[in-house]
Amino acid sequence: MSGSLDDVSDDTLTRRRPIDIPVRTESGQREVFCGLTGIVWLHRKMQDAFFLVVGSRTCAHLLQSAAGVMIFAEPRFATAIMQEKDLAGLADANEELDRIVARLLERRPDIGTLFLVGSCPSEVIKLDLGRAAERLSEKHVGRVRVLNYSGSGIETTFTEGEDACLETLVKGSAPTDAPQLAVIGALPDVVEDQLRRLLEDSGIAAAAGSLVFLPARTAAATPAIGPSTRFLLAQPFLNATRRALVGRGAQHVPALFPFGVNGTTAWLEAACDAVGGDRDVLAATIAAPVARARRALAHYVPALTGKRLWLMPDSQLEIPLARFMAEECGMRVTEIGVPYLDRKTLALELERVPEGAHIVEGQDVDAQLDRLHAEKPDLTVCGLGLANPLEAQGLTTKWAIELVFTPVHGYEQAGDLAELFARPLGRHDRLTGLDAARTTARPTTMSTTSMGQH
Ligand code: SF4
Repeated sequence: MSGSLDDVSDDTLTRRRPIDIPVRTESGQREVFCGLTGIVWLHRKMQDAFFLVVGSRTCAHLLQSAAGVMIFAEPRFATAIMQEKDLAGLADANEELDRIVARLLERRPDIGTLFLVGSCPSEVIKLDLGRAAERLSEKHVGRVRVLNYSGSGIETTFTEGEDACLETLVKGSAPTDAPQLAVIGALPDVVEDQLRRLLEDSGIAAAAGSLVFLPARTAAATPAIGPSTRFLLAQPFLNATRRALVGRGAQHVPALFPFGVNGTTAWLEAACDAVGGDRDVLAATIAAPVARARRALAHYVPALTGKRLWLMPDSQLEIPLARFMAEECGMRVTEIGVPYLDRKTLALELERVPEGAHIVEGQDVDAQLDRLHAEKPDLTVCGLGLANPLEAQGLTTKWAIELVFTPVHGYEQAGDLAELFARPLGRHDRLTGLDAARTTARPTTMSTTSMGQH
């Protein structure tokens, strides 16, 4: 549903049926990273994958700065930089690409999957990387699997890079009729191991037939997909991947996303019911982790309760996070910005949108900043480009991208997730206290603050 927020009555804001949730659609200037950013966490997850971006110096620069320290290790990503003659169509870019790939494979026998990643420049000159991937797969058959997806920043946001990558993996996966439960989304290994243990100890994995994760840690472990595959999404931005799985006959298990105690429990219960598992065994399995998570949360809830939260459209995690912050941490959510809204993927989350919050899909950054300044929330979750100017204007911010880089799923991370929101508020209080002390006390020798810590 779209429409003006001005038309939305208070009564409408408090209804819980998804169809009634006020959503305003905006378009205009956007402030987000492009899909290449996903390579930073995808290359860590898929241990024998290599990501070859076919792009410009800007793409190479973005990757290096996003990946930071990792440039010191033998990297598993690189940029084939297109020269002016490629862009002008004077050189055969395919021939050069073949040469670069041959050299790379010779030097790096550890590569099991090679992703050719499209970018704005490769899209602009309409370089057909899909066909290039097919050609190279045939050429290097038995040695490496070559796949392709686009991380282009044209009209996409940074988590769509992972979605495009996993969609390609699904489309390239082998068929199977074996019954299985698949967990979809790149999770840090430690989180994957925790969820695997819960699904195994509760009997859900056995009831499902088997348990697989996509992406797998190695090319050889990539699961086959078929009509007896039931799948749970672990990330709320995997819309194209969900459609690709359904296209292969797999069955989506709708669930809340596993953020916080409520989200993780609902996610496991959905899996349990879908495979005919035993809810009592599940309840016994999760009792201790739930208690641990509640104890960890209790530590941060006092600092968060009643604080007003505003989420700019960025990571696509905004709606599930708003639910967690309101339900389990007592925050008052005002605006939830989302780059785009897929009502199927988020169907159950939309039923739990916090009261008083409204959703804005898309972005017109100037209009959004005007509303933000009028509201003056206690905490704003936003992209890196907006965080510093907003901090300079006295607003407290949290970098959205950190929520994607940090392990935040599941019971054991519930406290860490709350802390990510509590920390900038604590920093703000300390700085405000410092300012107050400065105006009332004599000058001191203190010269540093914790400004840099998000
Ligand atoms: Fe920039 Fe596009 Fe390259 Fe991303 S893909 S770094 S938006 S040129």
